[in-house]
Amino acid sequence: MIRQWINKIRKATLKRGFVCDCCNGELFDYPQTRICIECEEKLLYNDRHTCSACGRTSVTEGVCLICKQRPPAFIGVSPYVYIGETASVIVRIKNGNRRLSCALAERMVEKLMKQCAISSCDIVVLPIPMSERKQAIRGYNQALDLAEVVEERLQQAGYRVVLHTDVLIKRRETPQQKHLTLRERSANLQGVFHLAKRAILKDKTVLLVDDIMTTGATGDVCATLCKNAGAKEVYFLCAAAAPEKQPTLVR
Ligand SMILES: [Zn+2]
Ligand SMILES: [Zn+2]
Repeated sequence: MIRQWINKIRKATLKRGFVCDCCNGELFDYPQTRICIECEEKLLYNDRHTCSACGRTSVTEGVCLICKQRPPAFIGVSPYVYIGETASVIVRIKNGNRRLSCALAERMVEKLMKQCAISSCDIVVLPIPMSERKQAIRGYNQALDLAEVVEERLQQAGYRVVLHTDVLIKRRETPQQKHLTLRERSANLQGVFHLAKRAILKDKTVLLVDDIMTTGATGDVCATLCKNAGAKEVYFLCAAAAPEKQPTLVR
């Protein structure tokens, strides 16, 4: 109920105008075009080789090396590659650019529809949560901003979709993850996330929504929780995913 009120207020303040959703530059054919050519050119679309498991841009066709070592508990979908200038655009949603969140969420849904045949019409949308403390400091959770638009667009497409913010809970801060392998990260995340209402997920299609997928450890831990609670299938829908190989990070 409170969330519905907040949404009404937010929608009233989230006016889209004749400016680019990303950089605020002038755009004459808005809303047909929502992101200007200059910003669009910076965005690297994830439409080359895509890993059939995690959904990231892979070096060759099929399953990426990361998933070969450890198949994720989710099916990954991301419209953009988290690299270079694309990354610099995507991080703006972390800084509270809600119009950009809206534009990216629409592309996440387009990619989901294109890439996946969702077998169930009953979908539960779960944004990847922040800890209460962190969300209180930031004032918003960008994963929730994306998830709300995803929910709305899927409803418009005829799906029965319900978004829950009180099902997947983050109980404590993510411990330091740098320099850890995927396996170590997953172990490191044990107990960080918790399902408060497991029965809601029984036989449902679950859509976990987040802004960025790097190793996929967070998605994997949350998807495993959902599967253990009886979810039929779990998708991990992100705005952007780090590619299998990141040349800029290779030293
Ligand atoms: Zn722009
Ligand atoms: Zn993969």
